[in-house]
Amino acid sequence: MATVGWLVDVLRGAGVQVVVEGDWLNRMRPGSFDPIGVLWHHTAATSSASNPHPALNICINGRSDLPGPLCQALVDYHGVFHVISAGRCNHAGVSGGSGPIPAGDGNTLMIGWEIDYNGVDQQMTAAQYNASIAATAAVLTRLGRDASHARGHRETSTTGKIDPSFIDLNTMRSDVAARMTGGTAWSATVDNSTAGRFTAGTSWGVSSYSGQRYGADYRYADPVAASDAAWYRFNVPASANYRVEVWYPANAGYNSATPYIVATSSGNRTVYVDQRTGGGQWRGLGTFALPAGDANRVAVSRWSSASGYVIADAVRLTRV
Ligand SMILES: [Zn+2]
Repeated sequence: MATVGWLVDVLRGAGVQVVVEGDWLNRMRPGSFDPIGVLWHHTAATSSASNPHPALNICINGRSDLPGPLCQALVDYHGVFHVISAGRCNHAGVSGGSGPIPAGDGNTLMIGWEIDYNGVDQQMTAAQYNASIAATAAVLTRLGRDASHARGHRETSTTGKIDPSFIDLNTMRSDVAARMTGGTAWSATVDNSTAGRFTAGTSWGVSSYSGQRYGADYRYADPVAASDAAWYRFNVPASANYRVEVWYPANAGYNSATPYIVATSSGNRTVYVDQRTGGGQWRGLGTFALPAGDANRVAVSRWSSASGYVIADAVRLTRV
C-alpha cells in the first residue's frame, strides 16, 4: 500500500500552515491507496475563531459507524492544515466517477480535505479557501495531475452528499489551475463595506438579514425605472481579460432580473441575474476585457422590470 509521506513537506513548501497530528505516517485504514486526485469536503460542524476545528477528533478517531481516520487533513477555521494520515482514509466512499476520476473506490483514488465548517448557514472562510487552493495545487503538482483532478464530494458521491457547500467547483478548479501555472492570478474582491470602493445612493438600504451575505451586511433597493446604480471600484492592473463574479444572498422575494453592469474596454455590458436563487456563493457573469486603471468597473442597477429588491453585496475580478 502506498502512502503520501511527502504530504507535510509539500504543504509547507506551498506556504500552507501545518499542524502534524500525532503518528500521521502510520495512522490509516487497511486497503489500497493510490491517489490520483484531491477531494474537498465540509465537516458539517460549526467552527469559529475560538473553536477552529470542532471536527478534528472525529476525523482522527472516526465514529461508531465509520472508523477513522476520516481524511488525510482537516482544514481549520484559520486555514491551518491538521495532517492526520499519510495513507488510506474513510472519506470518499464509492466514487460514481467525475471528470477524470473514474468510478470505483474513492478512498483509493483520492486524498481528502475535510474543511471544518457547517455548510448549512456557514460558508468556508477565505483562509480555508485560500489554503485549500494552495494545498490542492501543490498536491496535484506532486502527483503529476492537472487541476481537473480536484473534485468535490458532491460530484463523486453516489449517496447524495452535498459537500462542500457554498463553493463553485469550476471556479475552485480554475483557481487551482491558476495557482499551478504560475502562481496566483490577480484577483480582487470589493464588498459593499470595502472602504472607498463602493458607492450607492441614499435609496439603498443596509441589511444583514440573510445568512448568505458576504461579510457583515449587504445593500438592497426597490427596482425603479432609473439606474441609480451601486458601483464597485477596482484598481485593474493591466488591460486584459477578467472573470467577473458576483456574490449576493438569494431570497424568493428578491429580484429575478437584477441588472449588473460591467464597464468594459468597449463600453458598458449588462448581465441580468436572478437573485431569487443561487445565493451565498460566487456566480460568474462572464469574462470581459477591462482597461487598466482605478475606476468604477461593476455596478448593480435598480432599473429592473421585475419586482423585488435588487441586491448589491460583493464583486470579484480575476485575471484570466
Ligand atoms: Zn464529504
